[in-house]
Amino acid sequence: MAQHTVTLIPGDGIGLETSAAMQRVVEAAGADIVWEVAEAGAACAEKTGTPLPDETIEAVKRNKVAIKGPCTTPVGTGFRSVNVALRKTLDLYVCLRPVLSMPGAGGRYDDVDLVIVRENSEDLYAGVEFEEGSEAASKLIKFCEDEGAGVIRPDSGISIKSISITATQNIVRYAFEYALKHGRKKVTAAHKANIMKYSDGLFLRTAREVAKEYEGRVEFDDRIIDAFCMNMVIDPAQFDVVVFPNLYGDIASDLAAGLVGGLGIAPGANIGKEYAVFEAVHGSAPDIAGQNKANPTAEIMSAAMMLDHLGELEIAERIRRGVRAVYADGSVLTGDIRKATGSSAPAASCTEFTEALIAAI
Ligand code: NAD
Repeated sequence: MAQHTVTLIPGDGIGLETSAAMQRVVEAAGADIVWEVAEAGAACAEKTGTPLPDETIEAVKRNKVAIKGPCTTPVGTGFRSVNVALRKTLDLYVCLRPVLSMPGAGGRYDDVDLVIVRENSEDLYAGVEFEEGSEAASKLIKFCEDEGAGVIRPDSGISIKSISITATQNIVRYAFEYALKHGRKKVTAAHKANIMKYSDGLFLRTAREVAKEYEGRVEFDDRIIDAFCMNMVIDPAQFDVVVFPNLYGDIASDLAAGLVGGLGIAPGANIGKEYAVFEAVHGSAPDIAGQNKANPTAEIMSAAMMLDHLGELEIAERIRRGVRAVYADGSVLTGDIRKATGSSAPAASCTEFTEALIAAI
């Protein structure tokens, strides 16, 4: 088995606890990982003046693969979000979120196995915004009127939604390649092309063109985003790989996580052509940080995705099997899961859960 060097960014808040648990589990499963620890987040900002030091970015670039705990976004300090900065700097254009039922975790469905592929670089998240009352906003409002594009109220704040052929081709191709690599049958594109003809319309048209390259190998269909949400709630098992523009993907990820057991178990990854950063979907949970109450499952499942990415498929599967066994057994589960399942059984600490999992691997 190969040795891998991985950049570990524990982050802050519960990240310190979940990252330590994740390391223990990965090592117990038999992976040979050299962890190069790098700092980011609120505590790092206090110490170094920035929540994302250049050395941290350099460490990810050097090792190409990182696993990251959540980072608190300091409010009102002018610091940009660590996640947004990492995505932009490393060109991590794919946000990948597998959504897998975990019987015993309190989800509504036990038969979900889908993958969310979210575009990560543009759409309303690109940050092109004009403040209400600003000169630039007034100019833009006048421009739209002069162009006959429509009337915008003068007291509006404006966020620009842009969707490009380039980014859409990249993300849809990634979705199809992922489907092929992982033996999945169908890619669904979610959009609102009936209303936003030039942005979502372009997304759908481009997705259809890319789909033709995969005809006969992977099926393709599309859903209007509101219908997609309803279908997800009624029958999520019908979806396989679903590809989204940025904003819809963000919302759909949390909807999907909620259907199968919540934030404590939802893993994710931000992936580019050169680098990959794996991380749980949840944040730093300041309400329970430092109390040994955090559920480390999401970060551990993110580590399993990372091991897949590194080619350590067997070890990754060993971890996933162990996690499923601990949930199915149900005697050692953290407080968030006790709450989700309405169970009055005592909540295990993060450490107790980790030890039960190590024993199950
Ligand atoms: P959150 O995900 O941190 O917490 C939401 C709720 O879920 C809280 O009640 C929390 O206790 C619970 N929760 C979350 N993860 C849990 C876990 N693993 N085990 C048990 N309970 C868990 O979301 P928030 O409160 O909106 O954000 C807190 C901070 O995290 C903010 O500063 C936000 O910017 C940041 N954040 C960071 C990331 C990231 O770095 N990837 C993602 C989301 C939010």
